[in-house]
Amino acid sequence: MNGTLDTIPIRFHPLPGEALDSWLDAYAHRLQVRTKDILALAGLQLEHHPALREMFGLRPWTPAHHPEDFAALSAVTGVAVDVLGGMTLARYNGRLLTIDHRSGQRTRGDWWHRTRPSRFCPGCLTDNAGRWPLSWRLPWSFACVTHKCLLVDNCPRCTRPARLNWSLRIRPVPGFCRRPRLSTEPAPSEAGTSRCLGDLRRAATVSLPQDGRVLAAQERVDGLIAEILDAVGTGDADHRPPSLGRLQDLDASARAALAAIHFSSELPLHARDLLVELKVTDPRTLREDQSHGGSQPLQARSMAFAMAVATHMLRNGLDELQPDTTRWLLTTAHGVRKNEAIPTAGKILTRWDRATPELQGVLLKELASTLQPHERLRYRTASPRPSAPARGTAIERSRKVPTCLWRGIALPLTPPGLFGRLPIGFRVALSRMVLAVGSGTTQEEARRLLFNYDPAGLGLQYSAMTSKLQRSGHLDQVLSAVTQLADHLDEHNSPIDYARRRAQFLNADLDWQALAQFYDAVGRTRPAPPEQRLLRVRLIERLTGTHPRFLMPPMNLAGAHVHVYERAGLRLHADVSDHLDDQASRLLQQAGINEPIRWEPPQDWINLATCDLPGPAPDGIPTARLWTAVRSGDGVEAIASQLSTSIEHIRLTAERHPLPTGKSPTSCAPKIPRNRTPTTKELQELIAQGLSNRNIAKALGYSNTFVRRLLCERGLTSAFLSGGQRSIHIDPNHLRHEYEVKHRTYAAIAESMGVSTHTIRARAAELGIVSRKDSREDHPLAQLGGPDDFPPAVWDTFTGKGAETRVRRLLLITALPTSTIAAAARSLNITPCNVHATMKKLERAAGTTLFRRSTKGMTTNLTPAGEVFAHAIRESLSRVDAARTTSDTSQARTKGAAEQTANFTHELAEAP
Ligand SMILES: [Zn+2]
Ligand SMILES: [Zn+2]
Repeated sequence: MNGTLDTIPIRFHPLPGEALDSWLDAYAHRLQVRTKDILALAGLQLEHHPALREMFGLRPWTPAHHPEDFAALSAVTGVAVDVLGGMTLARYNGRLLTIDHRSGQRTRGDWWHRTRPSRFCPGCLTDNAGRWPLSWRLPWSFACVTHKCLLVDNCPRCTRPARLNWSLRIRPVPGFCRRPRLSTEPAPSEAGTSRCLGDLRRAATVSLPQDGRVLAAQERVDGLIAEILDAVGTGDADHRPPSLGRLQDLDASARAALAAIHFSSELPLHARDLLVELKVTDPRTLREDQSHGGSQPLQARSMAFAMAVATHMLRNGLDELQPDTTRWLLTTAHGVRKNEAIPTAGKILTRWDRATPELQGVLLKELASTLQPHERLRYRTASPRPSAPARGTAIERSRKVPTCLWRGIALPLTPPGLFGRLPIGFRVALSRMVLAVGSGTTQEEARRLLFNYDPAGLGLQYSAMTSKLQRSGHLDQVLSAVTQLADHLDEHNSPIDYARRRAQFLNADLDWQALAQFYDAVGRTRPAPPEQRLLRVRLIERLTGTHPRFLMPPMNLAGAHVHVYERAGLRLHADVSDHLDDQASRLLQQAGINEPIRWEPPQDWINLATCDLPGPAPDGIPTARLWTAVRSGDGVEAIASQLSTSIEHIRLTAERHPLPTGKSPTSCAPKIPRNRTPTTKELQELIAQGLSNRNIAKALGYSNTFVRRLLCERGLTSAFLSGGQRSIHIDPNHLRHEYEVKHRTYAAIAESMGVSTHTIRARAAELGIVSRKDSREDHPLAQLGGPDDFPPAVWDTFTGKGAETRVRRLLLITALPTSTIAAAARSLNITPCNVHATMKKLERAAGTTLFRRSTKGMTTNLTPAGEVFAHAIRESLSRVDAARTTSDTSQARTKGAAEQTANFTHELAEAP
């Protein structure tokens, strides 16, 4: 036949579900022409049409990428275009398979290529005159539910897979093998054909029991596919029908079953029954089907076995996996090495990579008890939905976690006594666990993220701690709590960037000047060097969350010092604690960091109801009882047993509720009265000098209580109870000048006038003086005069928070032999950033350029203006130092301010 017709006179309709190639072959057979001729009738010349060759000639399952061709075919055959479109594998596209339109290749599901030849049912071929349903091309078609048999893989005559390629150049005979005839075969009876022509309808089949598992599995799969196609029909392209997930899980489990039979000779009962049903006497038969590296078409019996095992495992859904089968697939599917009894989570996920995340999660949960604690965290087996680790999570989360997990959070997670009296190492381990949750980071990396140096040798034996937890039976609860905490941190974030704090403040120093002033103002003895060191590392702990035990040597505390530190923490007074917070906040402000000083996640981030935690809840110790116990001078162990809780619980409560001021263990102990009681006249004189109750007690060497009682007895009480009486000694103009013009602090003014800070503050309030919020530091030059007595630039330079520190730094860095900021930072032991900020601040205060610029930026070399400026401030500083030495007459002080200043300078220059 040549040329084209408007329409073929004989109509020939496709069967429901028939494949396009089958229908075209049958049509050609009916017309006694070649299949090619049918296409030619529609004007489709394959020779000149590569896309069509591909579509009809080489890959009959390829979807139509040229709708107009289908339109032409529809015009001559009278079959609707959408019916024709539904006869190719395009019907499944986007759901059961994905076809790359450019290459025409399927891109998902590597079983597709292994079933390309298509299995078949001889019974169906007989019933339908050799016509071929499209569904036989699906990899999951392995049995015929109508004829209750396995599908057949090969032609009975040439034993090759049937229907591999589609030739258009022959006159097709439906139901017969049309592979090219093998040269070894005898010549066919029908002259002129070069085809095998084996009768596929006569192929032997394996019959299956009506109520057997294989047919049930095929019905389950068919049902799922029908649901998926229905869902496609609804047109919602983004919606993933749940049946697709179920099929995916069956598919993945079936693959695991094939691997399992390959590696294991110990089959569970169900699998052995299946082999009987499939009439396979030796499991090795199935193994041989598998042993071609996946290049051979997958035999129907293997697919039937695998799918039936999968259907059995998942028959009650994900909530209730069939245990025997699941265990078999999990423990043997990995089977790479014989000695590997427990598969790692990673291998499980690789093996089950086609499963839905839900099934993967359920399997990981099944495995949890056999996994290493670190893996359980990485794969989140304690969460409702375990999953594969995502890289990078730990780095992000390390910004939100302190080196030692927050004391209040760690407390309920720490079995009392299990990690000794001071479980700070365990707190580090807990922080590392938080980093491990859902993250691909190794243990080593997690440790590096929490420390700014290699903490080897600090006895941080992470795995020893987790196994200790495991032995004590608390591992599950702790892992669950840590996972919840990590999830909440990811979701809600932390207001503190701990990574930045660690980078900037691990060597932070106290402002010793401010500290000394604070001690003087509250009338305490200034701390001695050992105590100073403890205060400094306490400041660092507050800023960075790093316990001084884990600071970089030589800053770290070791051995007995750690316990001294903890003991001091227990007895730290509220006012000292507040002062440390002030200093911390000043450092943060200087670094331009707008964060709270300290923070702890809320307790409800860990659901205590779902995990029965080993340690006590953080609240629950009445502070009054704690303070009484602490004041009694008992050790922390005794206090803990007295209040029947853990030592850490006591420490935490003390940290949250420091001892109220003025009732230190020493001050509340009555002092032994002197042999002579002061006379009323002596007391009146002291009052006239403007001394406060406390200062009178100090001057006389009596306790505050004793002095108060004494004054009461002598009728001098009113003077001390009101606190306002001192106002008569205070000149309002003087107070205003000192505070508002000279920018002195209340504490410094009180000190110079010999009255209490409280009195000054109350008087200032009466006078309506607006308190400054920005600084609690006295103006360093105030003792020498007011703003009018100094050049404005010099006065301004000494004004504001940390001004004196900056000025002293300037003198130190300009004296260095090199002029880079990096060198200055090294010598001051602060960050280059900090040095740079200090220099900029100085320039702003001085209102001119003080430092020379090189091509690389700022240097520490002074400009001529800088030289003049440095000279002026050097002079001012030496006057300040001299004034401090001479004006310092307080007997209570153990150290002169000059010495303090010298120490301070020394600290700056030589701090570790
Ligand atoms: Zn059949
Ligand atoms: Zn054949």
